[in-house]
Amino acid sequence: MQKHANETYDVVIVGGGPAGLNAALVLGRSRRSVLVIDEELPRNRVTRESHGFLTRDGIAPAEFRRIAKEQILKYPSVTFQSDIVKSATGRDGDFHLHLESSEVVVRSRKILFATGMKDVLPDIDGLSEVYGTSAFVCPFCDGWELRDKQISVIAPNDLSLHFVKMISGWTKHLTLLTQGSPFLSPDQHSEIQLHGIVVIEDEIKRIESLKGYVNHITFRSNPPVKCEGIFFLPTLIQSTDVSEKLGCVLSGNGPVMEIDTDTMGRTNVSGVYSAGDASGAPFQLISAASSGATAAAAIQLDLLDAEWNRIQ
Ligand SMILES: Cc1cc2nc3c(=O)[nH]c(=O)nc-3n(C[C@H](O)[C@H](O)[C@H](O)COP(=O)(O)OP(=O)(O)OC[C@H]3O[C@@H](n4cnc5c(N)ncnc54)[C@H](O)[C@@H]3O)c2cc1C
Repeated sequence: MQKHANETYDVVIVGGGPAGLNAALVLGRSRRSVLVIDEELPRNRVTRESHGFLTRDGIAPAEFRRIAKEQILKYPSVTFQSDIVKSATGRDGDFHLHLESSEVVVRSRKILFATGMKDVLPDIDGLSEVYGTSAFVCPFCDGWELRDKQISVIAPNDLSLHFVKMISGWTKHLTLLTQGSPFLSPDQHSEIQLHGIVVIEDEIKRIESLKGYVNHITFRSNPPVKCEGIFFLPTLIQSTDVSEKLGCVLSGNGPVMEIDTDTMGRTNVSGVYSAGDASGAPFQLISAASSGATAAAAIQLDLLDAEWNRIQ
């Protein structure tokens, strides 16, 4: 909860995923007053287990955040508020944040956008029912659990060769589904077939599941394909346009638009920082946490600079 309507926080962190939480930890330990405002819809909320974060491999996403908050709240200058930041105005040293559920304007000297990305799923009947149980987006996150299984890779664009090659590191039993797009060149077809990968260039009718797990996939014309797991390419979009409207420049890494920052997380707008998925790949919990810690260090150094110079 916000302590005082008139308080100016040193830092408001928008977003309480690993990037925002690690930043809050570092800033709390730096004796900064910090408000974390979080809509509480992190990217990985659909999964039962998170993988690849040292000491936390296999943890449920909600448990990860619970432990993080418990440890951060040991530092009394950090508070959390569950809300959506609708807009932000102002300038370095005096930002104003406007929230969805209250008229109270939150004021801060610095803002960190750790707002993450949203996955827009391809429009395939049955996909949302198995997303997070047996359909995933990242083999580094969930490939181990699907190792040696019969996997369908849904990739109806020019990333398909790259994506199927990546997933071949975890299983050799692969079917590439192009959703009816005949975009593979004859050379690419030969290359894929050389690796024993079946290609189906037919539109998917439905992903059929049993007890929440994918079982088989049906097509417009082709016979059904048995399947124990799916990897697919979502469309990644920014979770919010608040940073862009405040003047932050975004640029494209392929089709994905990311907030531009320097190596410390500083954006082009003085006093505004970004960390985690919102400002770039690799889209991993540990990378997001690491960039949150880095941005927090930059914020602390910039605040110290301003305070030091004010006294001179
Ligand atoms: C299905 C799936 C499984 C994954 N599994 C793994 C895994 O096993 N291991 C791994 O390393 N990575 C995994 N990832 C990737 C991982 O989830 C992300 O890299 C990571 O969550 C990024 O952290 P973040 O803090 O940048 O953003 P997020 O964790 O997405 O957190 C951003 C937060 O900001 C909030 N927010 C956004 N806009 C606003 C606003 N305007 N106001 C207030 N709050 C706002 C959101 O609600 C959210 O709580 C997975 C991703 C997906 C999609």
